[in-house]
Amino acid sequence: MKNNLDNIIDYINGSDNFVVTSHISPDGDNIGSTLGMYYSLKKLGKNVYYVLDDNAPRNLEFLVEGINILKSNEFNENNYSLIALDCGDKKRICLEEDIINNANKVICIDHHASNDNYGDFNYIDINASSTCELVYNLLVRYNETKNIDLIDEKIATALYTGLATDTGNFSYSNTHPSSFEMAKELLIKGAKRDMIIQKVFQSNPYNYYKLLGEALNTLDIVNGKVASICITKEMLKNNIISFNDVDGITSYTRDIEGVEVGILLKEKKENEVKISLRSKNYVDVSLIAQSFNGGGHVRAAGCTIYDSVENAKKQVLEAVLKTI
Ligand code: 5GP
Ligand code: MN
Ligand code: MN
Repeated sequence: MKNNLDNIIDYINGSDNFVVTSHISPDGDNIGSTLGMYYSLKKLGKNVYYVLDDNAPRNLEFLVEGINILKSNEFNENNYSLIALDCGDKKRICLEEDIINNANKVICIDHHASNDNYGDFNYIDINASSTCELVYNLLVRYNETKNIDLIDEKIATALYTGLATDTGNFSYSNTHPSSFEMAKELLIKGAKRDMIIQKVFQSNPYNYYKLLGEALNTLDIVNGKVASICITKEMLKNNIISFNDVDGITSYTRDIEGVEVGILLKEKKENEVKISLRSKNYVDVSLIAQSFNGGGHVRAAGCTIYDSVENAKKQVLEAVLKTI
């Protein structure tokens, strides 16, 4: 029997029309894997639409410059297959539901521990560093079985971005020997590493630091092991910085000596708080996020709590302290 990867390759070969998409609140792996797939399908002569309702964060705009990313209401096709990348939960796909339900088939390519195999075809590896690594594996397998090397400079740059962002620049525990092997191959193919590093990690606007200063004033550490930072919508407004451009602050909570769990609470609107959870050694934050209907990975997960920032913090702290 053929493995999942070969089934997906066969299905792609036998179909002409695709939509590629990913999860809400785009990150580097979201955009890198979707773009890698988009370019690859185009090179294969397929008709492919990139549809995503959320905009790229500022530091990832360089990747999608010139790409025609459609919003759901601009998409009017009815014969297509949907490839959902880096999306652990069908509800997090950043499209209107009709586009998901009307697809001939849904192909899910993902690495989230909380993925429930919602696709008709699923290529899920929860040990993979990133979804970009899975797209890379697919392209390598494509070359092995069909003898077509699809990875060029643009694809290498897209995939390297997601690999670098999801592994914290090759520092998190999801960084495996295969991640370095992939990085090596992508660099050989021309991935623009210096540009990626500068655009993604070294281009914060001044306002980001003003906001960071305020955010750090809210730093709270409980029992020396659980650290949290709160960002309110007023703080974002006063510093003229958008909700999607402050995710980098999450790492400040985890990077403190002795801290096992870091929590970032970001107020999206009144009574809607996005929670990011990170752990260092032993707490499975994906389970904590799932208890609030969220999900993610063992060391990085998230959820939304529909309450005030203060109450959301109380609830999430209570859940985290049970695991410490
Ligand atoms: P972040 O804290 O950076 O937003 O997300 C950390 C990880 O958890 C990412 O892999 C992200 O896709 C996942 N994640 C974040 N929020 C949610 C959520 O509300 N639901 C699910 N299923 N996964 C989430
Ligand atoms: Mn992601
Ligand atoms: Mn990912």
